[in-house]
Amino acid sequence: MGRSGSRQNQPVKSTASTAKSVAAASRRCSPKPPPTEATDESVEQRRRRARSILTQLRKLYPIADCALQHSSALHLLIATILSAQSTDEMVNKVTPVLFAKYPTAADLAAADPADVERIVHSTGFFRQKTRSLIGACRAIAERFGGEVPATMEELTQLPGVARKTANVVLGTWFGLNEGVVVDTHVGRLAHRLGLTWTSRDEKDAVKIEQDLMRILPRDAWTYTSHALIWHGRKVCPARKPDCEGCTLSKLCPSAFSLASPQGKAARRKEQNGAD
Ligand code: SF4
Repeated sequence: MGRSGSRQNQPVKSTASTAKSVAAASRRCSPKPPPTEATDESVEQRRRRARSILTQLRKLYPIADCALQHSSALHLLIATILSAQSTDEMVNKVTPVLFAKYPTAADLAAADPADVERIVHSTGFFRQKTRSLIGACRAIAERFGGEVPATMEELTQLPGVARKTANVVLGTWFGLNEGVVVDTHVGRLAHRLGLTWTSRDEKDAVKIEQDLMRILPRDAWTYTSHALIWHGRKVCPARKPDCEGCTLSKLCPSAFSLASPQGKAARRKEQNGAD
């Protein structure tokens, strides 16, 4: 039966009840307002809360490192390029094969693109990633003597290397806190935890990074990225944040507002001082 046929079988609603339904639907579809507890904060107050969050993260994840397997700056760079729109698990399945066959930048620079495409196929966007890998390795071999450069300026001149990838390599391999890596987990957690106030949404990586750099101590930039990624995976995934089991809940303006009815009840109880 077509759409019009099924609508004819619907009970006819009064104008008032239709208006109520439209209003309810409109409320359901409206974007969620940002958490007021966080938006009312001054930058200094937010900075203090960010440090408390950092203290908790250090207890939860004393060793938070990059989940991409690597044993050199080059391998980390390659793995990070492959991780775009993919998962670390998928990349970790592919890179041992790639690194065994093409261990150096010069090897990959001279590779047959069809062979590289076949190896990295399962990470998605394999043609574009192959172009980036071969292009970056060619530049590293020709302009940097086969060594991955250790500055933001030089790294971001390599094909397929933007600021996020450069931040991963500089922070994780070279130990240089030049910025904060904002991936999908960090973007989501920064919004939920109220650690960003100038960005419009979770994908606004540029503004999120700027806000995080303003309120986090510089020596914690790389650590915080990794810790938020771990927390996003283990406790605060996109769909079902486990606010009841989250030790950041008292510092999080979104706590229980995104969770189950049981979680919301727990939040009310906590706000009423019943814990
Ligand atoms: S309290 Fe909830 S929303 Fe906030 S970080 Fe924890 S799990 Fe995520």
